Amino acid sequence: MPPAPLLRSGKSNRTTDSPISYFIKKAIETPGLISFAAGLVDEGSLPVDDVRVAAAEILADPLTGRAALQYGSTQGLPELREQVLQLVCTADGVKPADVNLTAADVCITTGSQQLLYLLGEVLFDPGDIVITEAPSYFVFHSLLVSHGTKVLTVPMDAAGMRVDELEALLERLRRSGDLARVRGIYTVDYFQNPTGLTLAVERRKRLVELARRFSTDHRIIVLEDAAYRELRFTGGDLPSVKRFDTTNEFVVYTGTFSKPCAPGLKTGYAILPPDLMAPILHLKGSHDFGSANLSQHIAARLIASGAYARHAEELRAVYRHKRDVMLNALGAEFADFPAASWTVPDGGFYVWLTLDGIDTGPNGPLVPAALEAGVLYVPGEFGHVPDESGSSPSNECRLCFGVATTEQVTEGIRRLRKACAAVSAS
Ligand code: PMP
Repeated sequence: MPPAPLLRSGKSNRTTDSPISYFIKKAIETPGLISFAAGLVDEGSLPVDDVRVAAAEILADPLTGRAALQYGSTQGLPELREQVLQLVCTADGVKPADVNLTAADVCITTGSQQLLYLLGEVLFDPGDIVITEAPSYFVFHSLLVSHGTKVLTVPMDAAGMRVDELEALLERLRRSGDLARVRGIYTVDYFQNPTGLTLAVERRKRLVELARRFSTDHRIIVLEDAAYRELRFTGGDLPSVKRFDTTNEFVVYTGTFSKPCAPGLKTGYAILPPDLMAPILHLKGSHDFGSANLSQHIAARLIASGAYARHAEELRAVYRHKRDVMLNALGAEFADFPAASWTVPDGGFYVWLTLDGIDTGPNGPLVPAALEAGVLYVPGEFGHVPDESGSSPSNECRLCFGVATTEQVTEGIRRLRKACAAVSAS
C-alpha cells in the first residue's frame, strides 16, 4: 500500500527552495566555474587568528569558559547588547539616550536572517501588504511569499528607494482602502543586495516621516536591513534610518557580524521598538531559546579587544580593491557594448549589471551561454516581484565580488562578455 498522503501546512506549501539554490549547486558541480552568484564573503580575510585568540581567552578561564558554554538568555548576552548599541549609536553620531535607546532595546539573533523571519511571524498575516524596493533581497521576498504576504514595490534610482514613489503608493493605498493592510516597509539601505545602491540621507529622514504620517490607525514598521553597513569603502558613513526614529516607534534596525566579521559566527542583532521586543522574544524562545552563546562571547571579546574594528577596517580595503578590479574589468570588456551599464557601489560586494536587449533570466539564453563560458551570475529577475501581468525585468544580473579572487573577477568578467557576444550573435 502506498503511504497515506503527507498533509503539509499552508505555510509549508507556500515555502519553496530558494531560487538561487540551483545556481549555487551548479557552481559547486562545475569544475573551473567562476561564480559571481553566491553572496559569500572573502575567504582569505576571514579572521581565523582573531577568533582563535578570542576563543582561547574565553576558554582559558573556567569561569568565562563555563559561562560561554552554558545556555544564555533569549535576548542575548548583556555585554554584547551594550556593545552593539554603542557601535550603532557611535556610527550614527548620537548618544543612546538622545534616541530613546538602551541595551534593553537590543536583541541578539542567529544571524540577521532570523530577525527577518521572526519579524515576519510577529507582524504579517496572509493578505497583509509589505512594501519593498524593486529589486530587493530575494530571500526576504521568498519569506514574504511563505507568509502569504502581498509584496508591493517601489522603484529605485542611484539614491536608493524613490521615497516620492513610496508616498504616492501609500496615498493610492489610502484612497483604495488598502492602507489598513500595510504592515511594513523593507529597505536594505546600505550597498543593497542586490544592486549595491545606498539610500540618500534626506530619503532616510523622509522614510520615517512617511511611516509616521501614514500610521493613522496602526503602526507601519520600517524594517531597516543594514547587513552591509560596516563594509563602506568610499565616502563617509550615513546615519541610519533608525537615527531619525527618535521616539523608537517605527523602525526596526537589523545588523549582522556575518559580513564585517565571520558568517560562521551566525550572530546578528536588532534594535526594536519596546512593544515589539516581547513578541519577538516569545517566538525566538520557541525557536532556539537564544542564539549560540559561545558565538556571542566571541563577538563580544572581538569587539572589546579592538580586533573587530581592526578587522572591519582591513576588510574595507579588501573589498574596495575587488570592486575596483570588477569595475575596471567591466569598463575594459564592455567598452564596445553600449547595451551594458552597471552600478558603482560605495561598499558591500554587489554590482548590478544591466544588459539592454539581452534576456538574463533563468530561462533565457545568457545563463547557458555563461555556463558554457565558465561563469555564473544571479539573474536580476529573482530580485523582482512579478507585476500584475506576471512579468518582471529580465535584463539584469547581480554580480557578487565577495568570494571570487581578483584574478577570478577579471577572468569572470571576460567570460561574461564572451557569453554576451555569443548571445548577441545568435
Ligand atoms: N540581509 C541581507 C540583505 C543579506 O544579504 C543577508 C545575507 N545574505 C542577510 C540579511 C542575512 O545574513 P546573516 O543571517 O548571515 O546575518
